[in-house]
Amino acid sequence: MRQTVDRIVDEPRWVLCPGCTTPVYGKRWRRNLSVCPECGRYTALSAVERLTQLVDDGRYEQLDLEARSEDPLQFVDTVPYPARLVQARARTGLDEAVLCARATVEGVPVVLAVMDFRFLGGSLGSAVGELITLAAEVALAGRTPLVIVSASGGARMQEGVLSLMQMAKTAAALAQLDEAGVLTVSLVTDPTFGGVAASFATLCDVILAEPGARLGFAGRRVIEQTIRQQLPAEFQTAEFLLERGVVDRIVPRPRLRTELGRLLRAATDADRPVGDARPVGAGRSSHSGRPEPGEGLVRDPGRLPEADAWEQVRRARDLTRPTTLDYLATAFVDFQELHGDRISGDCPSVVGGTAWLDGRPVMVIGQQKGHTAAELSQRNFGMPMPSGYRKAARLMRLAEKLRLPVVTLVDTPGAYPGADAEEQGQAVAIAENLRLMALLTVPVVTVIIGEGGSGGALALAVANRVLAFSSAVYSVISPEGCAAILWKDPAAAPRAAAALRVGSRDLLRLGVVDAVVVEPDGGTGADPLAAADALRRALADSLGELRQLTGPQLRADRRARFRQYGSALTVESELRTMSQPRR
Ligand SMILES: [Zn+2]
Repeated sequence: MRQTVDRIVDEPRWVLCPGCTTPVYGKRWRRNLSVCPECGRYTALSAVERLTQLVDDGRYEQLDLEARSEDPLQFVDTVPYPARLVQARARTGLDEAVLCARATVEGVPVVLAVMDFRFLGGSLGSAVGELITLAAEVALAGRTPLVIVSASGGARMQEGVLSLMQMAKTAAALAQLDEAGVLTVSLVTDPTFGGVAASFATLCDVILAEPGARLGFAGRRVIEQTIRQQLPAEFQTAEFLLERGVVDRIVPRPRLRTELGRLLRAATDADRPVGDARPVGAGRSSHSGRPEPGEGLVRDPGRLPEADAWEQVRRARDLTRPTTLDYLATAFVDFQELHGDRISGDCPSVVGGTAWLDGRPVMVIGQQKGHTAAELSQRNFGMPMPSGYRKAARLMRLAEKLRLPVVTLVDTPGAYPGADAEEQGQAVAIAENLRLMALLTVPVVTVIIGEGGSGGALALAVANRVLAFSSAVYSVISPEGCAAILWKDPAAAPRAAAALRVGSRDLLRLGVVDAVVVEPDGGTGADPLAAADALRRALADSLGELRQLTGPQLRADRRARFRQYGSALTVESELRTMSQPRR
């Protein structure tokens, strides 16, 4: 059945905004996607309105799925349940509180399940659970991404404990899509609570939310009665949850289709050849043509000049050097940042998301510093909290699921050494990333773009290929820290830097980095675009090599790479090389 919706029937001539009570001309209200043009208040959309706004040209094909609510408990409150269903169907024109359809979003085929709050408060009954499960099964059969738009007060009381079971059923359906590597996206709209919030609305790979949308397990009134306190106004809003790592992005209604399209393209184009994979409008004319292998990369330490170690440390920390976000804007295209660890927070010292590199989608994760005191302070000087490492882990697992190569950009003085970081398990977060990265079966390439500080750097750097810019440093401890402990004098930091052999030439000689990316004259900060170009070529080169390997080979290659450190053969040969006289 092909359905085209050009306009919403029964369009009211005037709409009274529930936020500011301004009367708004109906056509203007619709044109503004049911967001008040005066006060910005978002109002609920019906499932049909939502689908029409979200998909290309408003065209969708409703899925022909069989599921209708029964009355298994013969439930009667003030009104018998069957009578409520009859009323809801008459009022909404829907069979149930969810509408499932097939469509394209920015040209990418998707299966959508869109809830309608007007139908018994969007409650999750057996038929809703069944329809969402069937939609997931359609998505699985066609390996088509699934988009679920939620709006719900929770489980449907009138169907009792059978409603509760729908949470487990839909969760299992999403787990199958995880196993099959099919992207799932949740769009949270106001309100999404209870059993819906605690199942499919939050189990998707990416959680988008409309501004101000409330999401939670328990409702505000229940919580306030339980704790006998008033909750802040912003409690459980999308903005509140973004800060706490629960949602990935807050997307204004007019941008939803575009942003959804970006995610879908990155997730579905991973296996396509270069020519087909470049997103529309994302081309960079200066970057056509494949680089020659090895171009801009130095693998022979003898070709690198001897440099004073302390001078290297100072250059690696130079605030003019491009940061991860700078490179994401220059060496990559179409970066779609994803936020939060889904556990405790959204660490500002780690940024990550999908992006395109040389016509192919990748997952990029990096530590973020800044150029000014304000930026540095906002990013906690690039020193991640456990939530930063857990966000990185979440994105790496997503990359593994979607078969996206992982690119990490390392630039940190170290993991944040604070009491709160310890309380939240900093050591565990780092350790778990080391193990996770050893298990990945997608290509992983790391570039140390500035400072590679200790375990906090390594937690993003268990890669198949580890590269470093020529002024980058990588060390087990900061030279200052080493000087304080071994020399009992922080002023001995320059001597400690030399003794620790932190510079790129020594790192290459030790085999800790595989190649050095030559910086522009004067460093990456002196010519950020040239640096970005060198980075892009180095990454494209390394990923091109790794693409020849199978998943098990990639994992074995990475394990072998790290297995060699400290084995007798390596140490002996490295000592011999390093004992050569130095100027
Ligand atoms: Zn208003």
